[in-house]
Amino acid sequence: MSLSRFVMGLVIAGLALAGCAKPPNPHAISARATNAALITNSILPASQPITQQPMPERIFASGNLGGRTLAVASTADIVLRPGEVILTFDDGPRPGKTPQILATLNDFGVKATFLMLGAAAQVHPGLAQQVAASGHTVGSHTFDHVDLSKLSRQAALDEIARGERAVQLALAGGGQNLSPFFRFPYLSQTGFLRTNLMQGSMVILDVNIDSKDYYKDTPEVVAARTMERLEARGSGIILFHDIHQRTVETLPLFLAQLEERGYSVVRLVPKDSSIFGRDLITADAPLLRGTL
Ligand SMILES: [Zn+2]
Repeated sequence: MSLSRFVMGLVIAGLALAGCAKPPNPHAISARATNAALITNSILPASQPITQQPMPERIFASGNLGGRTLAVASTADIVLRPGEVILTFDDGPRPGKTPQILATLNDFGVKATFLMLGAAAQVHPGLAQQVAASGHTVGSHTFDHVDLSKLSRQAALDEIARGERAVQLALAGGGQNLSPFFRFPYLSQTGFLRTNLMQGSMVILDVNIDSKDYYKDTPEVVAARTMERLEARGSGIILFHDIHQRTVETLPLFLAQLEERGYSVVRLVPKDSSIFGRDLITADAPLLRGTL
């Protein structure tokens, strides 16, 4: 912890206590800082000895929710430490929803992973590009959100490939690349598909904590439910959807709670740029020969 950060922390505390209506740095100082005194049970990164903990940052909740960047080459590489979460948003992009999600993520200084539907990215390529341009990671989630376990093996691979191509095409218009992260719609998978995709260097993004933001609950209930599940695990990959107004309204509440409790949001990126140097999977080139 540097002296300047410590001093800044004191300044922030002073402003928060004074109820400053228009702080000079909205990222460092916010209404969330007024909750600083309520912080309990903060979770500290396991890798640092207690004596090196940046205490003022935790106490004043001044924009330190953004955690480390985790570069992975396979699903097995996604290993979180206690107090770490990965935020994921499925089924977008969607006008009126995704931009608001991006704004909230920016307010809190965190990066997420968006698993986009090919069909949505195809219709809203500008939105897909906006997500990537904001520094978030973009993966895919099939083209049309079908239950892959109900399709033939070839049809399932075709659907995944079609989704990847559509999202990649949308991003290419902005000079951006698709990352190889993939999530099964409805979390419905088969052993064949899982093995096949992983052998093809895709990274399957599992879900540890489902916010169930598609239930017709209030944002407060969704945030509380998600936090309860997170507290039970201590870390994890969290599933949201950037297509619901409920999620738009839940996210600021939930991120404020994360910050107050000392969690950090890990930014997930591919170890190599783009998609690990491989080509997109294609419908006519099965990843695992002889098994279809
Ligand atoms: Zn989905």
